[in-house]
Amino acid sequence: MTTLSCFELGERMLSVSEARASLLTLVSAPLASEKVVLAHAHGRVLAEAVIAAFDVPGHTNAAMDGIALNWPCAEEGAGESLAEWRLVGQALAGQPWQGRLGPGECISITTGAPLPEGANTVIMQEQVTINGDRVNIDAADRVKGGQHVRMAGEDIARGQVALEAGSRIDAAALGFLASVGQANVTVWRRPRVAVFSTGDEVTAPGDGRDAAAIYDANRYSLIGLLQEHGVEVMDLGIVRDDYNALVARLVQAAEVADLVISSGGVSVGQADYTKAAVESMGRLTLWRIALRPGRPMACGTLGEQQVPFLGLPGNPVACMVTFLCFVAPLLRVMQGVSQAPLRQRAVADGRFNSRLGRTDFCRGRLSCDEDGRLHVIPTGAQGSGILSSMVVADCLVEVGDDMESANPGEIVTIHPLFRFP
Ligand code: AMP
Ligand code: MG
Repeated sequence: MTTLSCFELGERMLSVSEARASLLTLVSAPLASEKVVLAHAHGRVLAEAVIAAFDVPGHTNAAMDGIALNWPCAEEGAGESLAEWRLVGQALAGQPWQGRLGPGECISITTGAPLPEGANTVIMQEQVTINGDRVNIDAADRVKGGQHVRMAGEDIARGQVALEAGSRIDAAALGFLASVGQANVTVWRRPRVAVFSTGDEVTAPGDGRDAAAIYDANRYSLIGLLQEHGVEVMDLGIVRDDYNALVARLVQAAEVADLVISSGGVSVGQADYTKAAVESMGRLTLWRIALRPGRPMACGTLGEQQVPFLGLPGNPVACMVTFLCFVAPLLRVMQGVSQAPLRQRAVADGRFNSRLGRTDFCRGRLSCDEDGRLHVIPTGAQGSGILSSMVVADCLVEVGDDMESANPGEIVTIHPLFRFP
């Protein structure tokens, strides 16, 4: 099936997957790549694979403090006759012992020091008694040839891919890249995303509040979500329900942003003027999506650059859910993220309502039973304006358009909330 662009879908009710697929036609590839120093690479996405230029560890080395010696493999000899050894030197991490061990010889060695030639085994300090150059092994029958040794290249071998392009650089990856000697990395540029709220009733926290005012929850939730998705946020504040003000803000946004998102102003009655404002400088299409919470939504492009624009619903939870359903996938493409976000299965411990032909994302909270199985309960009232039940949720439960509801005991699909995708 070919995917239709946003402007070809027509007036009918769209499924979540249709809407998502067509939105993805607005962005074709990651933005440009850039080189950053490793210390600034946390949360960024690799644009090029990193190949290990050498073995890590670089030398076969000791995993314990103790003595290094050549221990025969099981079939070669019994442990009993190997209880006494002669100490011929010392190796420290960073100061290898130069030489080759002969029969019956050993050296003392510290963790991380290279094993000398002729050694294959390390015995813990606590299991040896050293008297001058005589070393006795306390329980020689328990020694296994090759024990407590880290092999050269066992973490990553020279020539292997250390990290694939498209990997998000987390704390472990930062350390790993450092261990292969990478001082800089080539990553995709962070998308710059402009965000603003619309509505005469919408007021910034900190400002006075008249009887009809509501505080601007959406811009803050969206800024948080954008940051969690690794983008550079441009906060464009609140725009009054005024054609000229909206046009001016859209022009400003399109000049600097790779993506523009707004909330509010797309429901019946307000959509006409949003449409007129966007169409003064680009294209817009209003969507009806079989999604709850999540209707209505608008998408389009701004200016000659055809900067993608998404008008999210004004209701705060609908705004967040549409972000996660539709904006997050665009951000993944723009950032070149190769990994799909984590989906899990959990046992429903309550009822999650939906309707045939509609996808519901219900707010849930996870727990784990004694057998390690995940369970999920609804977090309370599921109205699209009720943020308090979103705050206590740690996942969204997806009740697909082929299900009427999910009943207690059924297995449901869950989307963990608020992680890097
Ligand atoms: P709208 O889509 O503009 O018709 O808004 C739908 C509902 O969401 C209305 O109750 C608005 O007051 C509310 N709403 C719109 N924008 C925001 C916002 N930024 N923060 C919180 N609620 C909002
Ligand atoms: Mg409004």
